[in-house]
Amino acid sequence: MLDATIIEEFKASLRGELIQPTEEGYDDARKVWNGMFDRNPLIIVRCVSTSDVINAVNFARDKTLPISVKGGGHSVAGTAVCDDGMMIDLSLMRRVNVDKLNRTARVDGGALLGDVDHETQLHGLAVSAGIVSHTGVGGLALGGGFGWISRKYGLSVDNLISAEVVTADGRLVTASVEENPDLFWGVRGGGGNFGIVTSFEFKCAEIGTEVYSGLIVKKFEDAKKYMQFHREYLRKLPDEMTVWMVVRHAPPLPFLPKDVHGKMIVVVPFVWLGGQPDGEKLLKPIREITEPHGEAIGMNSWVGWQSGFDGLVDHGARNYWKSHHLEELSDGCIDKIIEFAGKMPTDECEVFIPHMEGAPSRVPENETAFAHRKTPFVLNMHTRWRNGSDDERCLAWARDFHSSTQKFAQGVYVNFISDMGEDRAKEAYTFEVWNRLVEVKNKWDPNNLFRLNQNIKPTPQQEAQPLLKSGSAR
Ligand code: FAD
Repeated sequence: MLDATIIEEFKASLRGELIQPTEEGYDDARKVWNGMFDRNPLIIVRCVSTSDVINAVNFARDKTLPISVKGGGHSVAGTAVCDDGMMIDLSLMRRVNVDKLNRTARVDGGALLGDVDHETQLHGLAVSAGIVSHTGVGGLALGGGFGWISRKYGLSVDNLISAEVVTADGRLVTASVEENPDLFWGVRGGGGNFGIVTSFEFKCAEIGTEVYSGLIVKKFEDAKKYMQFHREYLRKLPDEMTVWMVVRHAPPLPFLPKDVHGKMIVVVPFVWLGGQPDGEKLLKPIREITEPHGEAIGMNSWVGWQSGFDGLVDHGARNYWKSHHLEELSDGCIDKIIEFAGKMPTDECEVFIPHMEGAPSRVPENETAFAHRKTPFVLNMHTRWRNGSDDERCLAWARDFHSSTQKFAQGVYVNFISDMGEDRAKEAYTFEVWNRLVEVKNKWDPNNLFRLNQNIKPTPQQEAQPLLKSGSAR
């Protein structure tokens, strides 16, 4: 418990808001995307500036309060919110400034992907990131960040030029190739382990404001035939074409016959970064290999396409994800996907299979902390439901599915891990990368102040090292 006067003094020193459990807005502010997490921080600090973030870090550290950091609040592991500690909420820090001449964007640490798309698209530009507009840039970009244009332009971490980081000792430092290169290496894949990023600087891609894109919906009965084709065909496509696969119950999409709504389907979404005629040629074999239930294809505004799936994954539902990087989509793996898709516990669950090869796989494996760059596919098992009474069977489905496909896997994407624990976090990295992450952690956060994340524990010290006072040099 903290003395009320101390909290009041701290509150008065902030430019943003401080909310305590009995105050208005507390319940809204502590909510995160995954409805599984109902945690109660002692204090929520809604920062509006870098100085607020520094102030909050210093206060929490000096009072030994556990810290959680909220960017967009989308972590499936619920790490944006803590019990009995300080939630440092960045969601009021969402500015995006675009330098159209240099094709770069400076993005605040609490911005959402939709904020970035709206501002960069004013100039026909885009930052390579994810596919749901209400996801936070913070967590996404610190873990890796991939989406519809990453095969062509690389991951978010591959487009990061610099980051402004508030460290455990309350300093503000720049991480870039020139300044603090070890920290720059670590924040490109090591998550929120090393400090709080108040501002990211990204390279932008020139994609225009419309992309040839759409959905082709295949019959579940043909799933095996389609998947066997898909795994080969995709690997010959140019990087400008991204084709993924989602197995789920059909939402009531207007272009699908009514009797298909609610049935199992295989959705084949794609984005082509080129002219429509060439895109059509590349799509032809996909359209012809098996008969579709329906399709919706055309030129779509980038902002519209990027928010087109938002409604399927809105805030508040209960979610549990299991995931693998796949070395290949073998027949054995396809059989397991079809078997488990056939027994999905709810209509909102999905099996999501992005194709990753391209620019990300050409970056040398140890260049950034994002590891496992060579695997072609991700297999993501999204379990999503509404009632706590369904927890057991939903978790069991994902866990059984995950263990039955373990033999086809090589590692996992750190941002798709629901479970906490060092063993699972280690799977997101190679041995060399993990060891180097520990070294970076030892230097930048030796007392593990930033530990509510997929945690990289520092090497235990003989005696806890005193944290430097704010503003002092190392
Ligand atoms: P938060 O829950 O706010 O943060 C998660 C963790 O990141 C925090 O605990 C903290 O440790 C750290 N963090 C966040 N912001 C900062 C910051 N500014 N400074 C320091 N640490 C910070 N990933 C993809 O790559 N591509 C996708 O297309 C994609 N789609 C997704 C769709 C949905 C519906 C969901 C739920 C997730 C998706 N993800 C995707 C995964 C996503 O990258 C992670 O969930 C990520 O953690 C989201 O970041 P956030 O800021 O919203 O999360």
